[in-house]
Amino acid sequence: MHFFEHRDGELYAENLRVTDLVEEFGSPLYIYSAKTFRRHFEAFDSAFSGLDHLTCYSVKANSNLCILKLLADMGAGMDIVSGGELHRALAAGVDPSKIVYSGVGKRAYEIEQALAADILMFNVESLAELEKIDEIAGLVGKTARISLRINPDVDPKTHPYIATGLKKAKFGLDIESSLEGYKKAKELKHIDPVGIDCHIGSQLTSIDPFLEALDKIMAFRDKLTAMGLDIRYLDLGGGLGITYDEEEPPHPSAFGEALTQVLADQSLKVILEPGRVIAGNAGIMVTEVLYTKGGETKEFVIVDGAMNDLVRPSLYDSFHRIGEVTPKGRPERVVDVVGPICESGDFLARGRTLPGVGSGELLAVYSAGAYGFTMSSNYNSRPRAAEVIVDGDQAHLARRRETYEDLIACEKGCLDSM
Ligand SMILES: *Cc1c(COP(=O)(O)O)cnc(C)c1O
Repeated sequence: MHFFEHRDGELYAENLRVTDLVEEFGSPLYIYSAKTFRRHFEAFDSAFSGLDHLTCYSVKANSNLCILKLLADMGAGMDIVSGGELHRALAAGVDPSKIVYSGVGKRAYEIEQALAADILMFNVESLAELEKIDEIAGLVGKTARISLRINPDVDPKTHPYIATGLKKAKFGLDIESSLEGYKKAKELKHIDPVGIDCHIGSQLTSIDPFLEALDKIMAFRDKLTAMGLDIRYLDLGGGLGITYDEEEPPHPSAFGEALTQVLADQSLKVILEPGRVIAGNAGIMVTEVLYTKGGETKEFVIVDGAMNDLVRPSLYDSFHRIGEVTPKGRPERVVDVVGPICESGDFLARGRTLPGVGSGELLAVYSAGAYGFTMSSNYNSRPRAAEVIVDGDQAHLARRRETYEDLIACEKGCLDSM
């Protein structure tokens, strides 16, 4: 069952016509399917029903408040990477005892904020951070539950920008330093080392790297147990890939089964941090064709959505399927789909075979639910797009389109002081 599909020659988001949504909310427009979010979360979470586990959705994939609320209502915890994401999660009503905090550069005020909220644990990425958390916890009279993020030196075979578990990555601690780290954690007064954490990368299309990492971590856990540490949590991060084009990533049920086999009798609470696999294919970005032009060697379809709205093609050279909202059956041609931004790197697709399209027609950019809106910016002073959540035959405006006033709001004070 797909919730973005054509019926009678028109693209629908659940029960609503995409054309109607754009008429109401404008273009470019992010459209999310609530039922797809729910189905993806349910499929992922139930894959681990054989284990004591907590699924902490990775907020950075899609951090819209109503999306967080939708998932929290299903029992999701959250994986955050900043104080801003903590603020969002709490505003959406997420239970702080289900929040884990990852990231290499947590600032003092963010650590304080997370301690005040009494989150489940910090995933600590350096010895310096460990000391900082201990110091702050001491000052505010709390004990911080922590995991150390271990970098198992496993190749996830994904795009280098989203491979995080190799030795050369900035993330986590190698196994030797981690042992030092846990010795230190044991001594520090305001630190309670309760878990082990690892996240090796994103958009993984095979289970093997996960199992390889898990193997190293379980061996490492034995060492910690021998040191007298009571490790109760095992956080395996996120990273399960999705189909953008022709990838065939494992289904969450296969992923869950493989991990369950290794972890069934381990008396550990397993934490998972899926982002892309929940959100990626639960959203599209719709964009309107402004102009077409035939260059000498190339043909361009110029659309109103740009790299500031969806940066993945420009940043990772990633593929997003693009199709007509209202297919008209015209002959295909090979085109670059580009935005209005003054950068040659501003494209949504290059060398793409698409039916001929004309001004005013709508294109759907698929698989845009994760790392789409959250990575958007105001480059070229473009107000950011609106986000709409469709649930059956209801459309909820999840984020209004930014206005020109929004663009200058944080700068206007300067006009008076200069
Ligand atoms: C980005 C991130 C995730 C989510 O990754 P996906 O590939 O979207 O599942 C999970 N954990 C951490 C620590 C991350 O940085």
